[in-house]
Amino acid sequence: MKRIIVLLFALLITSLSTTYAASESILTTTKDLEESQHHVGEVGYNLLNSNGIEKRMIFIFDGSTKYINAGTSTLSRTIVIYRGLYSFLQDDNELAAVLAHEISHGVDSYDGIFNGFFTNWRYFFTPRKYEYKADKRAVDYMVNAGYDPVAMIVMLNKIGCQHRYDWWFTYPLTSKRLMQVYEYIYTKYPEYLANNKYKNNIYYQNFLLTSRENREKFQEKVKTKSTKKVHYL
Ligand SMILES: [Zn+2]
Repeated sequence: MKRIIVLLFALLITSLSTTYAASESILTTTKDLEESQHHVGEVGYNLLNSNGIEKRMIFIFDGSTKYINAGTSTLSRTIVIYRGLYSFLQDDNELAAVLAHEISHGVDSYDGIFNGFFTNWRYFFTPRKYEYKADKRAVDYMVNAGYDPVAMIVMLNKIGCQHRYDWWFTYPLTSKRLMQVYEYIYTKYPEYLANNKYKNNIYYQNFLLTSRENREKFQEKVKTKSTKKVHYL
């Protein structure tokens, strides 16, 4: 009986940590795949090396699906970006924004008891906290590696859908994530907003339009030097 349980557990772990290398490419040519994979690797390793992250992680471009997402396997420390999301990205800064966010989850997977085994549970119970944390840490990683952090706002505004209710999903509302990132850049790296290379970008302009009320709340907080947490819409 004991052996069967051990075997089942081993099977479960193996199936969970299967690498993505076997994914079949149905939507890209081999050349496209190779170029995209190299591009993702180049930006990913630049972020790791420039930030002195001494944890091993690998980056995979998955060309087989139009899934608009990226993810980190905390068991195999593999960061995957899907073709659907990749096709939205217009420069290295935006790709860096996606990868830096995932690297933050990867770094967390090394922390804590049993080599980060319980990180997954923390993520399960308090996913919002870790999303905000990953966004902010990603801004730091981007700046340290020479990328423009405003691209995080551009990228999130472009791909983050806005759910109807905040309590409905485990992820925070995109409008709130955007404001947390904006507030963080404004406070820690204001030079990027003062000399904003994305000011004429349509996605950034759309962020300015749709965040007007939230930014007014934030400006009020700055003006009054209030330390109270602002509740964004
Ligand atoms: Zn995340």
